[in-house]
Amino acid sequence: MSSQLSERILNMSTSATLAMAAKARELRAEGKDIIGLSLGEPDFNTPDFIKDAAKEAIDQNYNSYSPVDGYADLKDAIIKKFKRDNNLTYTPSQIVVSTGAKQSLANVALAVINPGDEVILPAPYWVSYSEIVKLAEGVPVEVTTNIENDFKMTAEQLEAAITPKTKMLWYSSPCNPSGSVYTKEELEALAVVLRKHPQIIIVSDEIYEHINFIGGHYSIAEIDGMYDRTVTVNGVSKAFAMTGWRIGYIGAPEWIAKACNKIQGQITSGANCIAQRATIAALEAPVSSINYMIEKFHERRDLVLELLGEIEGFQLNVPGGAFYVFPNVSSFFGKTIKGKKIENASDLSLFLLEEANVATVTGEAFGNPNCIRISYAASEEQLREAISRIKTALS
Ligand code: PMP
Ligand code: GLU
Repeated sequence: MSSQLSERILNMSTSATLAMAAKARELRAEGKDIIGLSLGEPDFNTPDFIKDAAKEAIDQNYNSYSPVDGYADLKDAIIKKFKRDNNLTYTPSQIVVSTGAKQSLANVALAVINPGDEVILPAPYWVSYSEIVKLAEGVPVEVTTNIENDFKMTAEQLEAAITPKTKMLWYSSPCNPSGSVYTKEELEALAVVLRKHPQIIIVSDEIYEHINFIGGHYSIAEIDGMYDRTVTVNGVSKAFAMTGWRIGYIGAPEWIAKACNKIQGQITSGANCIAQRATIAALEAPVSSINYMIEKFHERRDLVLELLGEIEGFQLNVPGGAFYVFPNVSSFFGKTIKGKKIENASDLSLFLLEEANVATVTGEAFGNPNCIRISYAASEEQLREAISRIKTALS
């Protein structure tokens, strides 16, 4: 009967990040001592003040459907957050709250993309971008960036990728998987090109906004001429250690927000009501309330760069944010280690899982076949042990 599946699903890849996390779980259940550095998920608990807000919401009988696009007071909190952190002014009809930023992205894709529309994805990009674009019958157009340029797309590269079919540009900053942060100047250079092509809609995924070690987070919607064509995506999963609560949101031109609202009204009826109430507490708190997590991520980034830097064959950029490193491991390709031939990043990632009991994700899933992604959202002890195992396995 599986031949009855739609082409849409047959053409879709499984999420490599979630697949690797599932594989690690499976091996652990078999008794293997796997260190999971594959999933981009903070290892902290959700802060108590957020949990308290959720408990209160239950006691206050928040149990009914919320407005499809989110509670009015949550939207107010989001509007204030956009103003406070990004200097962006939105009205309630420009905000849509969804079941994770993942759904926000899917809504936008379904709302805007027609079959055959091209979507520019600076590669490496987050795994789900290309699959969500394809689900909406769009065509992902990868723009290959390199480690020398800190994995950032230049204005020239953007210009060269634009065709009459280009409908959108999607990127994340700080970037998953490279950790790269676009500066104001770099975004302004991209905006110069985009101004010449007013039909292109921009998706700026800023879910790692607060996990930034160099300061200076900048939203492209702040730049002249970009606001009316940019969807700014954000959420609470990463900064507030709330991955399982599933709340993401957009600030967008009203016509896009309305379309997302319409889709959501037919597909989910809106996000979970308790998680929405908890999100109000998260967004209304001063950003300093999560500094302890950001500081830890920063320390771990430095530790991981130092330890991986000692392994011959790992070429690294210095990530300005998020909680990933994305080493180029192509120097191992063509070698046979412990009887296993390493032809590409997927082979190396599998080798590390089998020989070092460390789960990573192949860069192929992110549009870069020379790298692997290592998440350092894990304890210092686990990181030290994992990298020591990697070193031993590869030596
Ligand atoms: N965008 C990026 C760049 C991500 O890394 C993630 C990770 N899950 C998401 C969006 C989706 O986040 P969520 O659905 O948990 O809000
Ligand atoms: N965004 C995280 C990651 O890249 C979580 C997993 C997912 O949603 O794909 O690992």
